[in-house]
Amino acid sequence: MDRLYLVVPCYNEEEVLPETVRRLTDKLHRMCQKGLVAEDSRILLVDDGSRDRTWELICRFHEENPVVSGLKLSRNRGHQNALVAGLMTAKELCDITISLDADLQDDIEVIDQFVEEYHKGAQVVYGVRSARDTDTVFKRSTAMGFYGLMQKMGVDIVNNHADYRLMSKKALECFSGYREVNLFLRGIVPLIGFKTAVVTYERAERFAGESKYPLKKMLSFAWDGITSFSTKPLSLITVLGVLIGAVSGVGLLAAIITLLCGGFVGEWVWIVLSVWLALAIQLVALGLVGAYVGKTYAEVKDRPRYHIEMLLDEPKAE
Ligand code: UDP
Ligand code: MG
Repeated sequence: MDRLYLVVPCYNEEEVLPETVRRLTDKLHRMCQKGLVAEDSRILLVDDGSRDRTWELICRFHEENPVVSGLKLSRNRGHQNALVAGLMTAKELCDITISLDADLQDDIEVIDQFVEEYHKGAQVVYGVRSARDTDTVFKRSTAMGFYGLMQKMGVDIVNNHADYRLMSKKALECFSGYREVNLFLRGIVPLIGFKTAVVTYERAERFAGESKYPLKKMLSFAWDGITSFSTKPLSLITVLGVLIGAVSGVGLLAAIITLLCGGFVGEWVWIVLSVWLALAIQLVALGLVGAYVGKTYAEVKDRPRYHIEMLLDEPKAE
């Protein structure tokens, strides 16, 4: 039977934790009864340097309830890091992990489907939200803009998927090869490959407390996502340079033709055109440097080149 760890990052979540633990314990219990997961499955609460009583609560729950495990980070490192800390710890202890938020906005009733997909062979199962009705117009439009922009930048991410996902031990082992510090899990997980599945669910509102993702954090998250996965902004510099160069080239040609046909070309035209041309040359040169920087960036990341799913080979005859 597979041992499941539910990995829950918590930052100042004292208001929601008691209810969250109650609901998750109940859920795990029902899943054990159904024979979906092993009896010794756990809820791993990761305290991301909370300033309130979150860790005290986790300690208390751990004493009262054998299903609850706790992991404490030395200080606040942000949702993504807390999640990775939890996943990497769980990797050594279990067969499957499911990451979810402490506020249970993600419908925990679909966890069964996650595990069923795993049993069908999926190494990663993405939770995808079917509707965004419960979000404010602001959050909905910024999120849509974000997914659109990411895809334009050539980053492969699953639409409307946050960090509610199942990852098998195998997927986590591959994942641990991605050693980058600027973490954007939603971008890395699709790079791993293997068979994946999608489970849709409706996202509820936070049942207590408030969002720990203010606009500032959201923006820096989006920025991280783009700059960690795409060097397109660098090649855009070259494109811009070429465009400006083309425009000023056409201008120059027009001016020369006018001159040859006996027309008059004002002095300012030559000044403007030479400024543009100089700008174009600089931009193209910058873009060229950017191309090398982009490659260096990829090398520095040192991402795994491939993951092997299976090898068919007869053992060598003695
Ligand atoms: N979180 C965290 N560290 C942080 C910020 C958030 O571990 O610095 C956790 C938080 O406790 C929650 C999850 O990340 O479990 C998602 O945060 P939240 O629900 O506030 O985000 P939202 O749902 O509003 O996007
Ligand atoms: Mg939330």
